[in-house]
Amino acid sequence: MGALALTEPDAGSDALGSMRTTARRDGDDYVLNGRKMFISNGPVADVILVYAKTDPALGAKGISAFIVEKGFPGFSVAQKLVKMGWRGAPTGELVFDECRVPARNLIGGENRGVAVVMSGLDIERAFLALPCIGSAQRCLDLSLEYASTRQQFGKPIGSFQMVQAMLADMYVELEAARALAYRALMACNDLERGGGGRGDLHKLCAASILRVGEMLLSVTDKAVQIHGGSGFIWETEVNRHYRNAKLATIGGGTSEVRRMIIAEELLRAAR
Ligand SMILES: Cc1cc2nc3c(=O)[nH]c(=O)nc-3n(C[C@H](O)[C@H](O)[C@H](O)COP(=O)(O)OP(=O)(O)OC[C@H]3O[C@@H](n4cnc5c(N)ncnc54)[C@H](O)[C@@H]3O)c2cc1C
Repeated sequence: MGALALTEPDAGSDALGSMRTTARRDGDDYVLNGRKMFISNGPVADVILVYAKTDPALGAKGISAFIVEKGFPGFSVAQKLVKMGWRGAPTGELVFDECRVPARNLIGGENRGVAVVMSGLDIERAFLALPCIGSAQRCLDLSLEYASTRQQFGKPIGSFQMVQAMLADMYVELEAARALAYRALMACNDLERGGGGRGDLHKLCAASILRVGEMLLSVTDKAVQIHGGSGFIWETEVNRHYRNAKLATIGGGTSEVRRMIIAEELLRAAR
């Protein structure tokens, strides 16, 4: 089981600039000190890709990437967090207290951490669209089934035009987002190892996950609306999709960060 630890209690959207976790060389080891926050699978991971500053004076250019293995002295899980959704994968806060990591576990070279982050970020964003599209498709399928079978005023609720409008909008929002997501995934197919992190692909992957995340919020909201009171009940499947959906506009960079990336790339190209 793997995890990726970039975010810290005081370093989220500005994960690189505000990073406080440090790694100092000591003989054949690096010694890590700091905390990482909101780490998916952190509480159960066997290996964790951890980012730390090897040269804090260089700011974001002084970051390195390390593989920390479960059981390394000085590594511990501070807490497992209780979440509104995505409850199948535990998320936690990790602590590195004089944690000794063998120098051979350094990835990509000293002070080359930003390149490691960037090499995977666009693919991660493009890939993140897929569970969102699956969740939205499932919500549409469940809503169609419910609208066809749930009767009110002596008729299936799917015969009412306002319910039909929600179903039609769900379909259009989903298919438009799917088309953009597939375009981003196709572009990633041609990505060289270590490529990405700026330019058209960077903009396209941010656009894909921005659109898909906001689509999922809208589609899951409509699915709960169509299910009425039962959609508000914790155990129903649409309720689970609704609670899970919010992470799609936060994880892997928020909607605001995605808009910043898109605007920066548009403006850079226009100069
Ligand atoms: C369930 C879950 C799983 C996660 N898994 C991982 C993981 O595995 N590994 C990992 O490293 N991280 C993980 N994260 C962390 C996630 O990437 C961060 O939560 C996210 O990047 C936002 O950081 P933050 O929470 O510190 O919010 P902040 O950065 O504090 O942002 C708070 C608000 O301010 C806005 N904001 C911030 N800066 C700007 C700006 N310049 N302009 C406009 N608006 C701005 C944000 O968009 C947001 O709305 C996970 C988070 C969650 C909730």
